[in-house]
Amino acid sequence: MINDSEAGEEIKRHLCTNCGADMVFDPKLGRLACPYCDSSKVIEIDPAAIVEQDLSVFLNQSGANLRPLAVDALQVTCDSCGATVTFVPPTTATSCDFCAAQLVAQPKAADPLVAPEGVIPFSVEGSSATNALRRWTKSRWFAPNALQTMARHDKAESIYVPYWTFDADTATEYTGQRGEDYQETEHYTDSEGNQQTRTHTRTNWFYASGRVERHFDDTAIPATVSVLPEYLSRLEWDFRDLASYDPGYLSGHKAQTYQVTLEEGFERFRDIADNVIRNDVRRDIGGDRQSIDSIDTGYSNVTFKHILVPVYAGAYKFKNKTFQVIINGRTGDVYGERPYSALKIGCLVSAIILLLFIVILIFGVFSSGG
Ligand SMILES: [Zn+2]
Ligand SMILES: [Zn+2]
Repeated sequence: MINDSEAGEEIKRHLCTNCGADMVFDPKLGRLACPYCDSSKVIEIDPAAIVEQDLSVFLNQSGANLRPLAVDALQVTCDSCGATVTFVPPTTATSCDFCAAQLVAQPKAADPLVAPEGVIPFSVEGSSATNALRRWTKSRWFAPNALQTMARHDKAESIYVPYWTFDADTATEYTGQRGEDYQETEHYTDSEGNQQTRTHTRTNWFYASGRVERHFDDTAIPATVSVLPEYLSRLEWDFRDLASYDPGYLSGHKAQTYQVTLEEGFERFRDIADNVIRNDVRRDIGGDRQSIDSIDTGYSNVTFKHILVPVYAGAYKFKNKTFQVIINGRTGDVYGERPYSALKIGCLVSAIILLLFIVILIFGVFSSGG
């Protein structure tokens, strides 16, 4: 545990110097703004404060570096999907942004976490996100009214979702085979007794071994499992937008607690890195085909960051199924899945059948008249 004076230094509250109210991070201004008077305040950005943490050193400290996201932060966990959300009063969390379930549990003081090193601040305002959501809903044909209702009630709320990023140097020793293709022409007699030729591709295999090195920089691993994987894979972040973390960014916005632990995140990073390295090895082996017999990779200088990225998240229920909509808090791009309303489609099909019936009726009348 960290004592209060330490925490006070590390985790500052942002009060309006004019009226004493809690200031809110304003995506449009890109700074803290007072909701009651006109005053605003820049959050100091200190690039030197974004420190890559040494992974092995950190893991050996077992909890010494953990602290809550903000000094007065509360957290509440969704009974339905398990997402834990942190917020600073007067911000509240009444329903889950990821699954639409009501949050019935009482919020409690936020648990200490691996402190975020950086944050990509919101730059899309709530009103712009709502407009993007409305445009998206309007362009969905045959969507049930629940979708329209969600857009009308501004149910996509601003929430930071957690990522891990990893840096590492790798050196890989490998052995394998290089395949070099050649063409072989075969003469044969076909079923009708004619001489024919055909060519086959054959491969000569040669032993290969060597060493490849690669540096990984800011490989991002989502630490949330609440955002659907197909949206996560399409959410893109420019890490040049990364600012040093300050609790001020949390003012007026929520943050999700990481669900993928640092250790699990590193395992996922290694899976991604291993694939990249295998491609490097194939390129190093060369030839037309490659087979890898052994591969031995050493990781060094492994560092990580816990970072928060901005999304607007909303969910709605339709026929007992939950549908999620995610808006990128930097670009305003909307990712969502949508159900088809059987009622609306049914109405259209009926209308078409009715129209056909009328056409046949009129055509029938004309043909009998002629
Ligand atoms: Zn004020
Ligand atoms: Zn939930």
